[in-house]
Amino acid sequence: MCKVGIFLSSWRIEIVVCQLYTVTVPSSAKKNKRILLAGLSPTMVFLFRENCDSEILLMTVAKDDTLTNEMVAQSDIVIINLEEGEYLANRFANIYADVGAPQVIFFIGEAEPSVALRARMPGLKRLATPINFIYLQGVLDSIQIDKARLLRFDEEQNRLRALYEISSSLLKVTDRLQIAAALEASLPHLLDGSTVLLVFPGAAKQILFMHSCEPIGPLRVEALTIHLRDAWSVLRSDMNIDWNFLQAIRSGPDTERDLQLKASSFMTTPISRGNRTEGFLTVLPRVDVHLNETFLQTFFVIGDLISVLVQNLELKEELQRRATHDGLTGLCNRQTLMEALEKECRRSQRYRQPVCVVMLDLDQFKSVNDRYGHQAGDEVLREVSRRLQESVREIDIAGRAGGEEFVCVLVNTKMDGGRIWAERFREILAARPVQYDGREIPVTASLGVAVAAGEDAIADLLIGRADTALYDAKHGGRNGVVCASEEINTYGPIKSSWMME
Ligand code: GH3
Ligand code: MG
Ligand code: MG
Repeated sequence: MCKVGIFLSSWRIEIVVCQLYTVTVPSSAKKNKRILLAGLSPTMVFLFRENCDSEILLMTVAKDDTLTNEMVAQSDIVIINLEEGEYLANRFANIYADVGAPQVIFFIGEAEPSVALRARMPGLKRLATPINFIYLQGVLDSIQIDKARLLRFDEEQNRLRALYEISSSLLKVTDRLQIAAALEASLPHLLDGSTVLLVFPGAAKQILFMHSCEPIGPLRVEALTIHLRDAWSVLRSDMNIDWNFLQAIRSGPDTERDLQLKASSFMTTPISRGNRTEGFLTVLPRVDVHLNETFLQTFFVIGDLISVLVQNLELKEELQRRATHDGLTGLCNRQTLMEALEKECRRSQRYRQPVCVVMLDLDQFKSVNDRYGHQAGDEVLREVSRRLQESVREIDIAGRAGGEEFVCVLVNTKMDGGRIWAERFREILAARPVQYDGREIPVTASLGVAVAAGEDAIADLLIGRADTALYDAKHGGRNGVVCASEEINTYGPIKSSWMME
């Protein structure tokens, strides 16, 4: 079997006959010429033919084929293979005598043409340079490989570009919801028409992201559920997931859009943190998308990227939490609390709504430590914090100011409301002792309440007045609430012991 590659460059036409020859046609003969290749195998492979500005007439195997007058008449260049004898060349010479000589006649072949043939075709030139078959085979293979490489390179380039886009948008992400947005922006290039789910089945049990370019039909959550469950078992996760959460998307806004997930195949990659699987990224490819290795590799890299990202986000959240919250109780720390109070004061100065500050100090807490131990004291602080957190509204701020002192900022609350809240919380503490290690620890607290609005709402001043009221509550016998007089001390903030720390 003979394979032929024709290389057309600006200065030459090079014909590689794989089995034996490289044939080079001078550039002058190339332009707009019709070339007749006589006697070459019908399995010739023409590479790069699209670049050819010559018309190439390909003749099939010499002996059984008819070399017609038209063929010869239409040719400007004839290349005859003499490998299998001069039979074809003689036939050509007969026709040539009738229709006139083409511009150029070349032969290829190892043996020189006979004297008789040369006599019939005086213009016959040798065009072939015999070269090593293996070399030629290698050339052709490398050409084919190169072409395949080019295709692979294109594919790889697209993949890298998509990965680059995805990773650059993921780098800007500051929370998990933004991961979904980043994927939404960059994945369609890569996974066009596919449905992509980014699922973190944590407390929120939510599907963060569902992208589909397909026209959408009826939702088939059950089918999807089975798919994802399978995916999950493949991942051998130890995570306990309530798969019913997938049903929840039925009642969500997507119901109207009637999402149809008619994927016959799917890919799932875990979003993991260490050994723990936190969620997963699943792609249900468009029905006609072929899941090749490139696609899979890209997909897994994206999964890994998101895993790293989620870990970073969690670390960042943890750092932020530690910087702003108290380690023992989980309440806001003093700095966060003061910042929140200052913000509320600014709001009050602008809109004149009242800000209420309640300061709370546990009574005789030293004796709790002395009697039950420091660990019991810690548990009391935690329990008080829990009750505090449960008692304030979501918009209010409860914080640990230090030691056994707490501060609550009650937003938009007048003195009446503040007093009622403080009194109720005092009862909440006193009514139920804290349980620790099978023992009951009675806890009471003294509370001071202060309120200000408008230009009087100054954080330091409010804290000082609440602290003074708290001091009065202690002196009044503890386990009580004292409200600061609503008159403002015009000489500036009263420095409490707490403020001096
Ligand atoms: P008063 O009713 O006057 O407030 O009396 P008190 O004993 O509560 O006040 P004092 O300021 O004398 O004591 C506060 C105690 O709180 C002393 C300290 O050991 C304890 N304390 C402060 N921070 C912590 C903590 O994080 N854990 C524990 N267990 N105890 C703490
Ligand atoms: Mg104290
Ligand atoms: Mg105390």
